[in-house]
Amino acid sequence: MDDALYFSEQHVAVREMVREFARDEVAPVAARFDADATFPWANVKRMGELGLLGVPWSEALGGAGLDLISYMIVIEELAKVDASHGLTVSAHTTLGTSPIVHFGTEEQKLRYVPLLAAGKVMGGFGLTEPEAGSDAGGTRTMAVRKKDHYVLNGVKRFITHGHVGEIFVVTAVTTPGQGTKGISSFILTKPTGDLEAAAAAGVGHDPSLPAMRGFRAGKKEDKLGWRASDTAELIMEDVEVPVENRLG
Ligand SMILES: Cc1cc2nc3c(=O)[nH]c(=O)nc-3n(C[C@H](O)[C@H](O)[C@H](O)COP(=O)(O)OP(=O)(O)OC[C@H]3O[C@@H](n4cnc5c(N)ncnc54)[C@H](O)[C@@H]3O)c2cc1C
Repeated sequence: MDDALYFSEQHVAVREMVREFARDEVAPVAARFDADATFPWANVKRMGELGLLGVPWSEALGGAGLDLISYMIVIEELAKVDASHGLTVSAHTTLGTSPIVHFGTEEQKLRYVPLLAAGKVMGGFGLTEPEAGSDAGGTRTMAVRKKDHYVLNGVKRFITHGHVGEIFVVTAVTTPGQGTKGISSFILTKPTGDLEAAAAAGVGHDPSLPAMRGFRAGKKEDKLGWRASDTAELIMEDVEVPVENRLG
């Protein structure tokens, strides 16, 4: 197949850059990190420096300003060598950051996207619950409005970056009885559960993000595969979320 049919010179350059990174930095640690379920903080730092944690976002928001084909090339080249690294980039970008890029207010975008796009902290998306997976209409997490904030209660499970991440878009029922139409999304923040490892790598924690009381990671999943990708519960107990953190 002729590359030129599908790929521009820029796509080929991105592919070469990620291939080299995957060969030199990911391959040597992939098997060990998978066996030990170690989150690859040092490589996260390097991926941030290479622009791999904000590939499709505009340069104005701190992204690399590249197209979706470039983004797919990045995930494919990483996943060829280690699926966990590919998932780290895709969950952070598509699940964690894209809802804010696509539906956030200007203030929300400027506050959160540059941190995520540069890979300074990890992001995630919390939808799945014990009774809500394929069917988001089964969501039980509740958000009740009280003057200038919402109070969130509930448990999310299988959340990529639930333990290591700091910025999350979380879904909750705001109007009961309306199925998926009664669900809203909120931006929640907490400190990474890996403070020591993150500090050693020099990424993963931003002290300017509020540690919302009652918002924390729960059980970490001991998975059969993708073991260097972090998957955990997110627990919300009377978390007070400012109204301005409602998405959009
Ligand atoms: C490694 C990993 C990372 C994840 N990361 C995240 C994350 O970051 N954020 C997040 O919110 N979630 C995450 N998830 C959860 C994932 O999105 C859910 O597992 C998925 O949506 C399925 O939900 P469930 O597990 O409740 O299964 P169920 O919805 O109970 O489905 C079980 C099975 O039934 C089938 N099924 C369901 N409904 C129907 C139907 N109507 N007709 C026919 N078949 C049906 C499904 O295809 C599936 O095979 C992650 C999961 C894994 C394994």
